[in-house]
Amino acid sequence: MSNTGMTAFCGTEGCRTFDSLGSSAGTVLGLSAAVGSAARCRNTPADVRKVQTALNRFTPLEGGPSPALVVDGKFGPLTLKGITGFQKKHFGLEGADGVVDPDKRTDKALCTAAGTYADLPAEMQKHRARAMHIINLARMSVDRARYFKTGKPNTWGIGKSDWEKAAKHFQIDKFPGASGWSTALGFVDSIYLNMQTALGYVPRGLVLATDEPLGSNEGAYAFTFSGGYDLSQRNLKWNGMPRGSIYLCARMQNLDSDAFSYVLIHETAHYVGPIAETQNSITDYGYAHRKDGKYQKLLPWQRTHNADCYAQHAFDAAGIPFDLNAHLLVSA
Ligand SMILES: [Zn+2]
Repeated sequence: MSNTGMTAFCGTEGCRTFDSLGSSAGTVLGLSAAVGSAARCRNTPADVRKVQTALNRFTPLEGGPSPALVVDGKFGPLTLKGITGFQKKHFGLEGADGVVDPDKRTDKALCTAAGTYADLPAEMQKHRARAMHIINLARMSVDRARYFKTGKPNTWGIGKSDWEKAAKHFQIDKFPGASGWSTALGFVDSIYLNMQTALGYVPRGLVLATDEPLGSNEGAYAFTFSGGYDLSQRNLKWNGMPRGSIYLCARMQNLDSDAFSYVLIHETAHYVGPIAETQNSITDYGYAHRKDGKYQKLLPWQRTHNADCYAQHAFDAAGIPFDLNAHLLVSA
């Protein structure tokens, strides 16, 4: 992504191709031929990927696969099991032929989960106030953490737990130099302050949440451009997309509504941070919900420039530690 001048693409698998199925999708998947185990099936990778993605949008109770299918475009026993399991749930045993024929009932039924949120931007809008509240609490916590180091006398250890949270998420205690922690904590606070501003704490707030354009295929939950809130960036475009928006992808359909304020804080960190050209922007060095181990190994400076550290710290500071994996409608 470095050749595009932007860095922030966020999702469980990072960037990958996907076929849009969001609220604007039609009533069928748009398969080129049948997918399944019969002689008439072609199982082209693009078609298989559509079926796998669609199946994953259903919870196991709704006939979706458990665990979720790996969306690899390959038709194998797990995808077949996913199709027959879905058909059994929707049409009974006799309807479970293991084939998704274009424009037929399985194809149509596979599209019925796409409307978890009829209007993603409107749904996101509902969670702005909650995100703002959590950011306010995070700033108060940052303030108390500073007091813990500088308030004299501080006989009762006021701010101790706040300092510990700043240390846990930003390793604020590991910054070199006598005042390293203070500079770093000031940077963190400036990001939170900018978030308040962007979300409307002052009247000029501007968080534009928009559906991902159909021509885009980033496959994330949401993405935005580093420093997109900056006046110099807002109206610049990349692939026809203005940099001043937060884009909500079809994958958001797989998050429960509790996760929206988390995603909003994560994306807003990118959005209000420095622009990419400064080499100081808020990017994605690691995601707390991934099991690749990167998040745990982040260095102090990376943490203060990592979007998920802000979302993690803010929720922890608000007293509600957050694990995105607990908010997936279909478990990964
Ligand atoms: Zn991100």
